[in-house]
Amino acid sequence: TPAVRFTNVIREYRLGEEVVHALDGVNLALTGGQFVSVIGPSGAGKSTLLHLMGGLDQPTSGSVEVGGRDIGTLTDERLAEFRRHHIGFIFQFFNLLPTLTAWENVAVPRLLDGRTLSSAQGDATELLRRVGLGDRINHRPAELSGGQMQRVAIARALINDPPVILADEPTGNLDSKTGRGVLKLLADIAHSDSDRLVVMVTHDSNAADVTDHVLTMRDGRLDDNAET
Ligand code: ADP
Ligand code: ADP
Repeated sequence: TPAVRFTNVIREYRLGEEVVHALDGVNLALTGGQFVSVIGPSGAGKSTLLHLMGGLDQPTSGSVEVGGRDIGTLTDERLAEFRRHHIGFIFQFFNLLPTLTAWENVAVPRLLDGRTLSSAQGDATELLRRVGLGDRINHRPAELSGGQMQRVAIARALINDPPVILADEPTGNLDSKTGRGVLKLLADIAHSDSDRLVVMVTHDSNAADVTDHVLTMRDGRLDDNAET
């Protein structure tokens, strides 16, 4: 089963009389174990594609399957649960909580499952070691560099061991060298687990060197129907 499959996906936005086709018939199938980037001009539909993969939005028509499950049929409550366990999100501006330490930030997703931060301390610490921050576990975001903050966010995205990691411009706020380190880490994460897919929307010109596949979007469509 592909990690993510889109079949004839259309996402329309209605603005009064006007209808915008943010996605205009997208077909793709992406298997785990790879690092995929999505590129294309502003307004091409990249964010919409990522939001649909992550269950943050639903298609107008067509189907979006993640791990073989059609997420268009889920109620809002089931969709929220799906996001917590199946998707890890990584953002341009890291979205860390400033008053919490690195390990506490990594453990935050566990709170949403009704668990305590401290019950996740071991797992959070282990993940921080894996992203190269074993000596920063008690630092707060203000005491970390941009690249270190993004590594904390990557560890947080991994805490529930989700099969799909979605990153929206993860290097957009980092210098080129730091960004390359983050891209390399995302590639390692995808390549070390054949059940894990990492998809990134990016304008970073370094991305093509480290990704396994580049999806190019234009006017709500993929340049090629992607099966990879
Ligand atoms: P990209 O991420 O490639 O810049 P988007 O997916 O954000 O593209 O947007 C694709 C198209 O859908 C654009 O024309 C955008 O204006 C439109 N769009 C996106 N979100 C909304 C929304 N919430 N309401 C109306 N139009 C939207
Ligand atoms: P398991 O314990 O199931 O054998 P691993 O020990 O490989 O799995 O990984 C434990 C956690 O760390 C998983 O969430 C895994 O995806 C994550 N992980 C694996 N490789 C990396 C890496 N290079 N960087 C960051 N996290 C990773």
